[in-house]
Amino acid sequence: MAVLELREVRKTYPGEPPVESVRGVDLRVGAGDMLAISGASGSGKSTLLNLMATLDRPTKGSVVIDGMAVEGLTDRQLAGVRAHRVGVVFQQFFLLESLNAMDNVANGLLYRGVPAKQRRAAAVEALQRVGLGHRTHHRVTKLSGGERQRVAIARAVVGKPAIMFADEPTGNLDSNNSREIMALLAELNDNGTTMVIITHEPAVADACKRQVVMRDGQLVA
Ligand code: ADP
Ligand code: MG
Repeated sequence: MAVLELREVRKTYPGEPPVESVRGVDLRVGAGDMLAISGASGSGKSTLLNLMATLDRPTKGSVVIDGMAVEGLTDRQLAGVRAHRVGVVFQQFFLLESLNAMDNVANGLLYRGVPAKQRRAAAVEALQRVGLGHRTHHRVTKLSGGERQRVAIARAVVGKPAIMFADEPTGNLDSNNSREIMALLAELNDNGTTMVIITHEPAVADACKRQVVMRDGQLVA
């Protein structure tokens, strides 16, 4: 069964003229897959990621995630899908700077109704999985860029989502840290995490199991 299925997905932003950022995308991602979506800047990759990760709704077409069709859901139900089935990692990490690593990761379970003590225990375990077991009580402002992205990855996977998305996860990292983050993502995938990685870096795409290319709002390969 597909974990993610897109059928004829379109996103048009209103304006004069309207911007057709995603123009009819069909895609299937199976359990255990590790898919790279690459393409030039402005080709629609981030727009597509927002649609796949249920952060935004398509103008037309169908997004089915872990068996749930997004178009039939209320905003509240959609928030539930996001909280329970999806993990997302961004180029800019988006961590809360006033918190330590553990509490940033524990926040990944905030909308699941998990009690605080269990959230923290799960966060420590997730930090161990990403190689940061020795940094649990460090403020994230004290961590390097590569370590911050590990914290963000731990937050994305702490709830064992059906699928994890990453938008240019190595975009703010030097080449050594990029390689390490890709090795970590490959390891998480080996252990069963299905993932879709948006990138314009060939080395990142090459580290994935499967690659498609986006051009002018469409998947071309
Ligand atoms: P990529 O991530 O591949 O660089 P994006 O998905 O960010 O591409 O952008 C694709 C196109 O959609 C660009 O032309 C961009 O200017 C436009 N776009 C993205 N977001 C918006 C928005 N919120 N409103 C209007 N246009 C947008
Ligand atoms: Mg982008």
